[in-house]
Amino acid sequence: MILYSANDMVKAGTNDCRGCSQCCRGMGDSILLDPYDIYMLQTATGQTFSQLLQEKIGLHVEEGLILPAMKIQEDTDACGFLKEGRCSIHDYRPGLCRLFPLGRNYDEQGIRYFMLDDACSAGNRTKVKIKKWLDVERLPRYEEYLIVWHDIRKNIQQKIMERKSDEYTHQVNVAFLEIFYQMPYQVQQDFYPQFEQRCQSEKAAGICGR
Ligand code: SF4
Ligand code: SF4
Repeated sequence: MILYSANDMVKAGTNDCRGCSQCCRGMGDSILLDPYDIYMLQTATGQTFSQLLQEKIGLHVEEGLILPAMKIQEDTDACGFLKEGRCSIHDYRPGLCRLFPLGRNYDEQGIRYFMLDDACSAGNRTKVKIKKWLDVERLPRYEEYLIVWHDIRKNIQQKIMERKSDEYTHQVNVAFLEIFYQMPYQVQQDFYPQFEQRCQSEKAAGICGR
């Protein structure tokens, strides 16, 4: 697998997708949402996490940890934000939607990117710089946050797997969802200090062991 940095060029350019919306359909609950995604969805829709859960997003369990994910709508088998074949929240779309057809790799060098083979049906893809493709504000800060978030998730998942206790798993999940997702983010304010504050809270220390 070839790994790229954000400054590298890759053949990911889909020519504006030209009427294709394949990766917004039938994707199950694979588009997992991190706290920054929720902050962006709250900004785009004005809805709280609980309101988003009523229709647009669902919950997915991965290695014992409950994580929000985009929800397929029963009538269309597509993401609820897909309107007339286009993403209706394009500027606020989740990180995994921005990435596609790329994936993220976490290692000692931080975040690097790779092409997802055969994931996108667009022919004649053009070369594009990854950071331009992602179109995320303050990308170095975003990547820094993603690394912290990745560590938190992995740390909690490891504890859940080690303890093998339903009660512990339940307690951790309730606290995890409350700290990082349910407590509304102040969308008029910068996301990152809010996230850091939550990471440093006593409650987070209890579940993250940080
Ligand atoms: S499959 Fe490729 S071309 Fe189709 S919507 Fe997804 S990224 Fe765009
Ligand atoms: S948020 Fe937008 S880009 Fe992501 S799956 Fe939904 S419609 Fe597609």
